[in-house]
Amino acid sequence: MPLAATEGRTRCVFCDIVARRAPAYVVYEDASTIAFLDIFPFTRGHLLVVPKRHGARLTDLPFDDQMALIRTLDELCRRAERLTPDYNLALNAGARAGQVVFHVHFHIIPRYGEGNPFRATNRPVLTESDAKTLVQELASP
Ligand code: AMP
Ligand code: ZN
Repeated sequence: MPLAATEGRTRCVFCDIVARRAPAYVVYEDASTIAFLDIFPFTRGHLLVVPKRHGARLTDLPFDDQMALIRTLDELCRRAERLTPDYNLALNAGARAGQVVFHVHFHIIPRYGEGNPFRATNRPVLTESDAKTLVQELASP
């Protein structure tokens, strides 16, 4: 994302990842979307699917970017099924819905029958070794 896109706002961590100014374990990238591992995963393989264009909400994006995001979501859901066939797909829109990063993103949260991970008060930090293994599992088409 060009710097100009975040001017006048608090710095956007996802724009920084898109521009590779901030690190991330990227598993997919194309001209208009990117997907990477969540650093505080609810479960193993928790992914974020993100448009490169900055917009706080899905409805802030032009239609073509919305469609590109859905196409990438389909690809990443298929890849997530390599880990387990079950997953939650989530989009938080607005602070009262739990949105913390105001650059629209879908969560893909693989489910392994672990109880309710959303109740956990302390989410683990993604470890480098887990991340590297997951990138190997998820980055190939
Ligand atoms: P939301 O509550 O829908 O805004 O979710 C934001 C998600 O972004 C959370 O699950 C965070 O753990 C995740 N997150 C925040 N910063 C980073 C980062 N630098 N790299 C990867 N994931 C991040
Ligand atoms: Zn952004």
